[in-house]
Amino acid sequence: MSELLANHIAGRWQTGSGSGTALFDPVLGTELVRVDAGGIDLPAAFQRIRSEGGAALRALTYAQRAAMLAAAVKVLQAHRDTYYEIATANSGTVKNDSAIDIDGGIYTLSTYAKLGEGLGAQRALLDGEPSRLGKDPLFQSQHVRVPRRGLALFINAFNFPGWGLWEKAAPALLSGVPVIVKPGTPTAWLTQRMVKDIIDAGVLPACALSVICGSSAGLLDALEPFDVLSFTGSADTAAVIRTHAAVAKRSVRANIEADSLNSAILLPGEGPGSEAFDLFVKEVAREMTQKSGQKCTAVRRVLIPENQYDAVAEALRARLSKVTVGNPRNESVRMGSLVSRAQFDSVRSGLQALASQTETLHDGAAQALVDADPQVACCIGPTLLGTRRADEAHLVHDTEVFGPVATLVPYRNSAHAIELARRGLGSLVTSIYGSDPAALGAAALELADSHGRVHVVSPDVGASHSGHGNVMPQSVHGGPGRAGGGEELGGLRALDFYHQRTAIQASTSVLSSFTL
Ligand code: NAP
Repeated sequence: MSELLANHIAGRWQTGSGSGTALFDPVLGTELVRVDAGGIDLPAAFQRIRSEGGAALRALTYAQRAAMLAAAVKVLQAHRDTYYEIATANSGTVKNDSAIDIDGGIYTLSTYAKLGEGLGAQRALLDGEPSRLGKDPLFQSQHVRVPRRGLALFINAFNFPGWGLWEKAAPALLSGVPVIVKPGTPTAWLTQRMVKDIIDAGVLPACALSVICGSSAGLLDALEPFDVLSFTGSADTAAVIRTHAAVAKRSVRANIEADSLNSAILLPGEGPGSEAFDLFVKEVAREMTQKSGQKCTAVRRVLIPENQYDAVAEALRARLSKVTVGNPRNESVRMGSLVSRAQFDSVRSGLQALASQTETLHDGAAQALVDADPQVACCIGPTLLGTRRADEAHLVHDTEVFGPVATLVPYRNSAHAIELARRGLGSLVTSIYGSDPAALGAAALELADSHGRVHVVSPDVGASHSGHGNVMPQSVHGGPGRAGGGEELGGLRALDFYHQRTAIQASTSVLSSFTL
């Protein structure tokens, strides 16, 4: 049997009491390691994390905690090769795709180390200016933000075991809140290894960072009112979380990142030969194939002027047919596999569902694999679907196929394009492509109400834009409605979730006496 990974909880390593769930190489089908979270006294461990981890972190200033994050960055950088090996074996990703998760996570952590340094030697934050509460100028209200006295529990999805940990842990630790991460089981190994390296290096106070791999049973039950919960995953699990007593009755603050039917929009007036058209096709093809489409931000709906349907289909087919798929260890392979057999089956059944309302414009299932046994490997080539009935094809706007799949959706005019983008009922991101700054700006503002991020690509930023699906720590990540209604990152805005904002009403002499 393979190694049973230990959990690190409340300052000590603890192996689960069960035989564990196996994690597999999705390309070779071999068992890698096992995880188990049985036998942990969660309420006692959570209590210790709140009291010891929380107190130790809150005793430090923001700048000291930022220095701690910078030290963690160095530790992770020193172990990058191991992380790439784990990602290849457990996520089946090619090097460039592993980089998004591993180096993306390290970059996010280092960004918060820099932002935290700027907050200096304080332990709390003033929020705005004092406001007079009445005629007497002496009695005023000053808002402050102080670190929450609970812990932060992260329940993460399988697709970003590295970045998914650090994009949440960086602002939490910088805020002075101890962290427990429960990674998605199929790829939990990378999260566990990163935490292990940080713990072994001793760069964080005891009980500041814990990892529990395996079942989520009992985790939510152990949460108390001052804790926070950040969840990333499917809308179905999100619904279970929202109705759990911890959230519904004990008011645990919850952030939810869920499914999203993201779109990319080519504005009217752009056709083959225009720079914007080429940038659009390049980005859509990249989004479909990066991490085999297993990104919550990936383009699922490709919105195009009706008269460009055939031209866009042709241009995308030309790009997608060049994408080699298979064993990520083979240098010639551009796209690796899905993370598990369950994901492979889910993509196949999602494609079957969409088939009733779409035509297949490029069939990835028919593609030969490089260096991989199609009976074993969870690989599938990129598949482009299309519908000529944008309004009636409701499944296209409802069904997130979490793989290398997107659908061409033609629109009649700009207003119709925006209406179709909103049919996602709230998305993480949309991207808009065109060459007229005024038209791009107007569309961006129009789409802002239903998206967490609007990514605008014009020829002048063709070489420098950060990518439709890349989540940058400077910008908020999250979206309204179906996307979960959550918000993460966005620079120092991310600290809000881990702080209590309180209005202190007092005389100006009291308010000016604060030592933060
Ligand atoms: P999932 O099945 O909902 O699982 C997400 C996490 O929840 C996993 O850690 C899972 O543990 C845990 N979980 C499952 N049942 C639970 C329960 N009853 N109570 C508490 N936790 C529970 O989602 P997934 O399949 O891993 O991830 C794919 C989905 O995530 C996609 O729909 C994608 O759109 C979404 N996603 C969204 C974002 C975003 O930022 N918005 C980012 C990435 C992914 P186990 O793994 O042990 O079951």
